Amino acid sequence: MDNNKSVALFSKAQHSIPGGVNSPVRAFKSVGGTPLFIKGAEGAYMIDENDNKYIELINSWGPMILGHANPDITAAVQEAVNNSLSFGAPTAKEIDIAELICEMVPSIEKVRMVNSGTEATMSAIRVARGYTGRDKFIKIEGCYHGHGDSFLIAAGSGAVTMGVPNSPGVTEGTAKDTLLAPYNDVEAIEKLVAENKGEVAALIIEPVPGNMGLVIPNEGYLQSLRTICDREGIVLIFDEVMTGFRLAKGGAQEVFGVTPDMTTLGKIIGGGMPVGAYGGKKEIMEYVAPAGPVYQAGTLSGNPVAMAAGLTMLNYLNDHPEVYTELAQKGEKLAQGIKEILDAKQLPYQVTLLGSMICIFFTAEKVENFADAQTTDTEKFGKFFHAMLDNGVYLPPSQYESWFMSVALTEENIDSILKAIDKSLDVANQ
Ligand code: PMP
Repeated sequence: MDNNKSVALFSKAQHSIPGGVNSPVRAFKSVGGTPLFIKGAEGAYMIDENDNKYIELINSWGPMILGHANPDITAAVQEAVNNSLSFGAPTAKEIDIAELICEMVPSIEKVRMVNSGTEATMSAIRVARGYTGRDKFIKIEGCYHGHGDSFLIAAGSGAVTMGVPNSPGVTEGTAKDTLLAPYNDVEAIEKLVAENKGEVAALIIEPVPGNMGLVIPNEGYLQSLRTICDREGIVLIFDEVMTGFRLAKGGAQEVFGVTPDMTTLGKIIGGGMPVGAYGGKKEIMEYVAPAGPVYQAGTLSGNPVAMAAGLTMLNYLNDHPEVYTELAQKGEKLAQGIKEILDAKQLPYQVTLLGSMICIFFTAEKVENFADAQTTDTEKFGKFFHAMLDNGVYLPPSQYESWFMSVALTEENIDSILKAIDKSLDVANQ
């Protein structure tokens, strides 16, 4: 595989961009080697600057659930572009998308658009604090909620592999209000709540974490969090930036039948454009300015081009529930195939799957939380990752990320991925 153009671009990028990339995980730091510079993508494929073509399982970290360059979304964007790129004034489409989100995710009675998942989570915590009059919040180790200061404590995703789970620049004053508990551990939450009685504003969680690899909630875990939050007057926030509109129309909260007070959403509602949103119970969302006293704003929020893309994507998902059945079948086929390969090779690795999110943990331990995820052999994962690229499959470049499938993946694509996995596991274990 010739990647000389990416090598040259990465070298050039070092001069003007920190680390050569605009978001850390893209730099391939945890898997080694040079990141591929992408020139285009279509359906299930990404094409790099050397014209190498990859079946890809990143899908922009979720939003490309319908595949790349979806003709309906592209057409909606092109039409919107003709009417100018931004107004800084309200538009009818913002109401359409708000109403659609409230319909698809019934726990959301009112929703505010922002420009990224980071903004969504930062704003949601501020609103929960304003609403409860309390300062502290509980965060789960290994969950990632964007790069807001108060979340960069034991964070997942790029923050793990960069080795700065407690990033310099985050003050002790900020960090002291973030309380930490392991995932899937109800006792730890009870302990924190008891030790900080009446001081906890919110509990924020990825209901199905995709930022420490993919981890599945134990039976009753999310329901127990709901019960504790009800008892203690704590705002339960589900960060569904990855799972929203992906695991089901109504996200993980629909799949597990647990209703949060607030939900944060991201990338997927922009269909690939930079969008995020937070919403929830009317009584809480009424605290947001200008309805209420908690300030939150954005010049480009509700951007007309982003709304056109997002509305087209969400309408499609709402009108075509069969997308989720199809994705689940494809996920099942891939997971089953991987398990058979692992069995045949007598490798004890873990495969986790939920709908169209999937991951292989390079460990013999069952992974139920961040500490378990950290028992993985990341060096072997790095070899595996590069062997997958050599075999034409582009995975997220870290062990601590979920893989995302799109409906554009064909059965043949899945067979090719399985063949690549078969060969790449051998390379990783040489
Ligand atoms: N929350 C979760 C669950 C995420 O996965 C991410 C990003 N991957 C974020 C928040 C932050 O979103 P963004 O990168 O758009 O700021």
